[in-house]
This record gives sequence, C-alpha cells and structure tokens, in this order.
Amino acid sequence: MTDSLIPILPSVQTFLARAQKLLIGGEWLPAASGETFATLNPATGQPLTRCAAGDKADVDRAVAAARAAFSAWAALMPAQRERLLHRFADLMEAHKEELAQLETLDNGKPFNVAFNVEINVAIGQMRFYAGLPTKITGETYPVSSPGFLVYTRREPVGVCGAITPWNYSLVMATQKIGPALAAGNTLVLKPAEQTPLTAIRLAELALEAGIPPGVFNVVTGFGETAGAALTAHYDVDKVAFTGSTEVGKAIARSAAGNLKHVSLELGGKSPLIIFDDADVAAASEAALWAIFANSGQNCVAGSRLFVQATVYDQVLAALAEKARALKVGSGLDRSVQLGPLISQVQLERVMGYVGQGAAQGAALVTGGERLGGDLAGGYFLQPTIFADVRDEMKIAAEEIFGPVLSVLSFESEDEVIRRANATRFGLAAGVWTNHLGRAHRMAAALKAGVVWINTYDWFDPSVPFGGMGESGYGRELGADVMDMYTELKSVWVKIE
Ligand code: ADP
Repeated sequence: MTDSLIPILPSVQTFLARAQKLLIGGEWLPAASGETFATLNPATGQPLTRCAAGDKADVDRAVAAARAAFSAWAALMPAQRERLLHRFADLMEAHKEELAQLETLDNGKPFNVAFNVEINVAIGQMRFYAGLPTKITGETYPVSSPGFLVYTRREPVGVCGAITPWNYSLVMATQKIGPALAAGNTLVLKPAEQTPLTAIRLAELALEAGIPPGVFNVVTGFGETAGAALTAHYDVDKVAFTGSTEVGKAIARSAAGNLKHVSLELGGKSPLIIFDDADVAAASEAALWAIFANSGQNCVAGSRLFVQATVYDQVLAALAEKARALKVGSGLDRSVQLGPLISQVQLERVMGYVGQGAAQGAALVTGGERLGGDLAGGYFLQPTIFADVRDEMKIAAEEIFGPVLSVLSFESEDEVIRRANATRFGLAAGVWTNHLGRAHRMAAALKAGVVWINTYDWFDPSVPFGGMGESGYGRELGADVMDMYTELKSVWVKIE
C-alpha cells in the first residue's frame, strides 16, 4: 500500500513535528492545565501529533482576548476588513496542498477530495464573505408620525463562538469564520478533538494575513470541557454549532444562560427518492455518492433511498455493482475513493447498526465488513447496502453517519411523501423525476431545509443551508446569514 501514497510535504512534516498549542490573542500558548491529547490518523490508528487540551480557563482567556480585540475590529473601515479577509483567502489558496494534506491525515478522507473539493469550497466561502463587509446595510422606514427620520443599523453581535465537527473541518470552520469576521465580530473556534489540525493552521494564516491578534482565536480540546465552557460563557454573544442533535440540544440549553444567539446545524436522515420516470442510471450513480461520499460521514447523506417499486430491482442491482467497485483505502493513495471512518468509536457505532439491520430482517446486499490486511490498523468499513428495509427499522430511522445505505420500496407519490417526512430530522432531501409538476410538488411537500432535484449534495456559498425539526435552526451560508451575526438597531431621529 505504501508505494502509491503521496509524499508528505516538508511543511506538513514540520507542522506535525512540533507540539501544537492554542492561538489566543495572537499568542501561541499551551493549555493552562498543561494537558495535551493525541490526534490520530484514522487510516493507521497512529498518533499524528499532540494538541493542547484547552478547557474552561483557556476559553476564558480566549473570550477575553476576543473581547479586547472587538472594538477595533468592528470599527475598521469595511473595505479594510474586506482586504484582510481576501488576503486570508489568498493565503489559504497558497497553502492549499498543505491544508488538504493535513485534512487527509487528520480525517482520513481522500486527498483528491480534500484538495479538489473541500479546500476550494472553504476558499470560496471565505471569498464570498470577504466581499460582504461593504454590503451590510440598514434601511429607512416610512413611519406614520410627523417629523422623524427612522433608520436601522446592522451592528456586529460581539464575540462569537464556533464549534465544529470532524467530518468537513475546513468547510465547517470557514462557513462560521467568514460571516463572523465579515460582520465585524471576533471569534473563538473550538474544532472537533478528532480533527483539530486545520483549524490551528487557519488561525496562523489569518494572523499572517494581518487579521489583528484576538480577532480569530482557536482553543483545541474536548467537547465536554472546552466546548461546554464556550457555549455557557457569559461574554459570548453568539454560538454557531455543527454536530450531533444530542449535543445541539445541550448547547441550546447551556446558551440560554445569557440568551446568546444560537445557530444549530445538526443530524439528518435524508430521503433520496427515485421515481420510475427518472433517468434511472443517473439517479443510481447519484444515490451511490449521496450515501458513500466522505464514507457516509455527512450530515446530508442520502441514507434512506426510496425507490419506486417498478424500478427497485434495477436500481438496487446498479447500486450494488457500483458499491462493490468502490476503492476503499488510505486517503494518501490517489486512486482511493473512500477513506476510513474517523475513529474506532465511530467504526463500532456503525458496525453496531450493521448488526441491527441484519437482526431486524433487512437483507444485506453488499459490504458490512471491516477491512483487514494492510488496512487492519485503520477504521475501514466496506460500503454497505441493505435492501428490503422497513421504515421502523433502526437503520432507517436513526442517523448512522457511516457508509450504510437503506433501500426502501414505495408505490405512490403520496405514500413516499408521508414516509419520507416521518422523521424527527429535516435537513436535506433528493428527488429524481423527469415530471416537472411532480418535481415541484415534491420540493414543496418534503420537510427539509434543502431539496435537490435530479442532483444531490450541491452547495454554494450564496445558498442558505440548514435544517428543520431536530436537524436544528438557523441557516449557514448565503448573505442572509448576516442577520445572525449582526444586531438590528432602530434609530429614531426627530428632525422637525
Ligand atoms: P460527533 O458525534 O459527530 O462527534 P458531536 O456533536 O459530539 O459530534 O461533536 C461536534 C462538536 O461538538 C465537537 O467539536 C465536539 O467537541 C463538540 N462538543 C461535544 N460535546 C459538547 C458539549 N457538551 N458542549 C459543547 N460542545 C460539545
């Protein structure tokens, strides 16, 4: 396996060789407790480097640094903020390969995907938000009282906290850093303990770009300590969280202490629906990637595939053949399509669901086994497909966050709408049909924050993204997100 692995850049080797610290107020500091933790390479199970295990004391320091930096950053001319954020995006671009390698090593995902997709999406997001400071406007109002000028100002909320998951560390970070800083806020980012490395590098690049110390701070550490301290902090004005529904609920409760603004992008169990009037070959290919991209560790994974009975066997056969042909292995191997799962814990969780699927009577069509041989040290699972799945089975109802697809059969449009919507989640949905009216009926009927028609898993920095129900509230991406990073102030001026 080692022959075909891409060489690790000297800059990445140097980065990994040092002890990682926290970036607080522009300073490179160990955790106040002195505690550290190892971040592992999920392709090998081996440690990559050690990171500072920040906790409440470090979050306090970081929030104080962010507060101290706030007034000057908020007061900067919008065009100056734009220039600095663009310079940051330029540096991300200049360090693309390094960031992508770090992500592949820390998360396991194929380098080709990290380099050609994820880092470009992250840069695109930074550029989109870099352009916004000069476009944040208020309005004037035609009040029905004589002699007044009434207008609104959009002011930054203050200090923001961002808590990110491990599945798309770069993108999840930039979609919070971008709007927070563009609006004139300062930020403390707590990346996932499984993938802290690119967040540290981003904060270093932000400093190098000239973004003042304290504007963007990073505290690495665990959720229950560093994360919980950030969400409960009295001097944090907004928290943006992406992660599990259970943690999202805990964050909403803890944020109530000072009524900070909260946006939550949580779990999903997204339906992908194939009607028999669709381009079935294209739909099958889309369904494959809808579930297996990022090894299924994707909040919008199309994990419930509803196929109309008339084309069910055809779709299932195509999918099974494609899934068996996917190449699973180290993300450093350029020919690999799927990397490992993030951790032993995650592998066991997902294998637990595979066991449940079989025990509850679903038919295992392909996969279900951990990979051995050269890959035995990592957390690799075969792409797995279950057929004859019923709605009430655990594999059809719960978020698995792994490469496990449930295929379900349906007869009619009304039936599939009812079944697709019978979930506590509401993040994403996909519909494949060539019937124009049906496409729009489905888009309106499905309970989801995003509906993809004859496609799946597309994002753009300009398009809002977020969920309904237990998939969370608030939206990320798009210009409207600035509503969540600014306070709207009404000003009444007596002019007569
Ligand atoms: P996953 O199950 O996918 O690991 P989590 O929701 O547990 O997702 O983690 C997402 C992020 O939330 C990580 O950065 C993690 O450290 C953080 N986190 C976990 N528990 C808490 C908590 N109680 N309070 C704040 N953040 C938390």
